[in-house]
Amino acid sequence: MRKKKKATFLQLLRSLFSNYCILKVKPSLSLFLLRYMRKFKVRNLGGNLILHSHLPPLNSNAYTRFVKEHLVGRTDGPSHAQIGLTNACPQNCQYCYNKNRRGTLMDTETIIRLIQDLKQMGAVWLGFTGGEPLLNKDLVRITESAGNDVALKLFTTGCTLTRELAKDLQKAGLQYVSISLDHWEEKTHDESRGFPGAFQTALRAIGLFKETTELHVSVSSVLSREMIHNGQVEEFLQFLIDLDVHEAWLSETKPSIGAYWNTHVLITEGDRKYLYDLQDRYNRENKITVNYLGHFEGKENFGCNAGHKMVYVDAFGEMSPCVFTPMTFGNVQEAPVRVLFSRMKQLFPSEESCFIHKNYPLFQKYMHGASIVTQEDSYAMMREVRFGPLARFSQLYYG
Ligand code: SF4
Repeated sequence: MRKKKKATFLQLLRSLFSNYCILKVKPSLSLFLLRYMRKFKVRNLGGNLILHSHLPPLNSNAYTRFVKEHLVGRTDGPSHAQIGLTNACPQNCQYCYNKNRRGTLMDTETIIRLIQDLKQMGAVWLGFTGGEPLLNKDLVRITESAGNDVALKLFTTGCTLTRELAKDLQKAGLQYVSISLDHWEEKTHDESRGFPGAFQTALRAIGLFKETTELHVSVSSVLSREMIHNGQVEEFLQFLIDLDVHEAWLSETKPSIGAYWNTHVLITEGDRKYLYDLQDRYNRENKITVNYLGHFEGKENFGCNAGHKMVYVDAFGEMSPCVFTPMTFGNVQEAPVRVLFSRMKQLFPSEESCFIHKNYPLFQKYMHGASIVTQEDSYAMMREVRFGPLARFSQLYYG
């Protein structure tokens, strides 16, 4: 075991330093990144050296761009972006952040242009989401259009996946796929998704991706506070280890909708710390990669970059700081994405804690029963927001 760990660390170093630009990165930032990366096992999947699915493969053009454009070049644009490829979804999750949104759907050409614009602005990681992105009939064409200098991740329930589509997506340049699965008990998962058969659909999709492709396969799970408090997260992780997925991408229910504007269902800082430590322990033990959002976005690491280095454009073109923040700063079908992002970014300086978790009472005030805060109200709301200190990465980046 010791030997194996050492080999992966050497592989990590080799791949990092083969990128000569890394030598231009501020030493304190390089040291921080090295310490962060040491917590994970590097996987070689089809030639891609993967730490986890929230960062581009370490030997990819996308990672080289991340170093050049963000760590060295200090570009103002986002590093990470998510795009809704459709608003349609057969499932009906209790916690869905996207429910009941309305508008004119972006067509395929608009989505393709948006991807190119986001890349030119600095995006090195793109998440395709929805709705259910597999329901977009042009998904393969859209994936292919992104090119080989951006990491692509698909978030899916697995509905309508076929063997051929899985293969075509890999051929088109997809690197990561994340299938939604919230519980190891079929009944509980189906209930939380409001869709009988959701559990079997997810298991089938995991099997198809694993059998027919060399894609990095993760499971994305929204943990309830109850599950955390009842000590059931480890039971769930064991279930995922038995499924042989590469990564458990964990988050908790966020107060993006009215049903979760309640401290009794939200996690505490103690819960976050518990999951943070759990991630480190599992990654040390090396049975599965655990990638908890509150670890990556915790104060110890990269913090909350909603609207700063992260942006979400929903299927109707509305721009939000991240998928969990139901507010709009304009529509990319009406104004250039670069202009909208730059205006939004002036209001989001990044901070150590989760924006939606901290500010959901303001959403209560400004949402007025709608599914998303209007553009006018979003600007009004931001006048009431107070940001806290920067997370460790941003302290070093901006210090
Ligand atoms: S608001 Fe919360 S979920 Fe959104 S980017 Fe920030 S930390 Fe992540």
